[in-house]
Amino acid sequence: MKFFALLLLLAAAPAGARDRPVDIRLFSLHRISSVNLEADNGGVFCGDRLLKGHARITAKGASLFLDGALKAGPAKTLKIYSHGGLWLSGPGLPRRRYTGDLVFSIAKNRLKIINSVPLEAYIAGVVTGEAGDLSHPEAYKAQAVAARTYIVKHLKNHLGEGYNLCDSTHCQLYSGLGAISPKARDASAATRGEFLLYKGQPASTFYHSICGGRTEDMTYVWPYEHKPYLISVRDGLPGKPYCSIAPRFGWKTKLYYTGLTRLARQAGWILPDEQAGGLRISAWGPSGRAHQLEIYTQRRRVKVSATDFYHGIGRRAGWQAVRSSFFKILSGKDYVMLDGVGNGHGVGMCQWGAEGMARKGFKYRDILRHYYPGTELGYD
Ligand SMILES: [Zn+2]
Ligand SMILES: [Zn+2]
Repeated sequence: MKFFALLLLLAAAPAGARDRPVDIRLFSLHRISSVNLEADNGGVFCGDRLLKGHARITAKGASLFLDGALKAGPAKTLKIYSHGGLWLSGPGLPRRRYTGDLVFSIAKNRLKIINSVPLEAYIAGVVTGEAGDLSHPEAYKAQAVAARTYIVKHLKNHLGEGYNLCDSTHCQLYSGLGAISPKARDASAATRGEFLLYKGQPASTFYHSICGGRTEDMTYVWPYEHKPYLISVRDGLPGKPYCSIAPRFGWKTKLYYTGLTRLARQAGWILPDEQAGGLRISAWGPSGRAHQLEIYTQRRRVKVSATDFYHGIGRRAGWQAVRSSFFKILSGKDYVMLDGVGNGHGVGMCQWGAEGMARKGFKYRDILRHYYPGTELGYD
């Protein structure tokens, strides 16, 4: 019996387990014209020529030049292959390690670097960054499956620009393979090829740091089509949610009306001659999060969606000021106090809740099923 079960597993595995490459644009937020290359342990090639030690790739006009022990250029593109590791660095750039194919070209007068990295190595890199505060291996595995599924759903993000994903939070934060955490590497290996599926298709695996006790129905946060598995779920027992173990579970922020006025004018919510003199919640989502807010000015009430408010304040005053839309408002004489819980948008998996569930003995399958009800693990 066991033998047949194993055979079935083996039959299901190959398609998802193959390590397809993903094309990532590196240093996507930086404007760079030159980059230093440093071979980890030899084995770095430009064409069929071996690169030893250091080299530098520079963009001059419309051409690229490779200088160092190995010289090449002028060229339109340079392809470097590394099966060991290659450190990239440069003025104003963090020093980061990559493997796989690196294609250098010029786009809009800047150096464009595309790294073709094996999917599983990339996942270990993403999980290192995204799950850095967590500790339990099962929480890491849940994060690895969520990240892998998120990646395959978003492979077309930058297809028009000639690659799959950028390395900033626009897609998923990726800082190379220089400091992979052993837990992230193990979790990625233990779940290799596994995706979260809904009716046989990869699910939209949104996740966030701390839900605050209840996740939110996606349609109350973004104007996307309803997904039956992105609904509001209670995160453990009332009064003692799984994510209550998170540092800074609760938060309070005092917003003076002078500051709120400035932010609301910058965001275009109120006119330059209007003053904010009040803030209230006018609609709530199923989780209890604010869904819509009203700002009172001297002559009207202005409706702002809670998502716009959260992003608008975050972008201008920092993401620590209003850390979620899960808050109550207490009004003072010349200010409002936001008394909140949680951190992030509240949709899908609560990362600290995953950690809390793992510490209570739940496995990553249970964790994923809890936050994305109706989904199942499978191979793509
Ligand atoms: Zn992107
Ligand atoms: Zn939670």
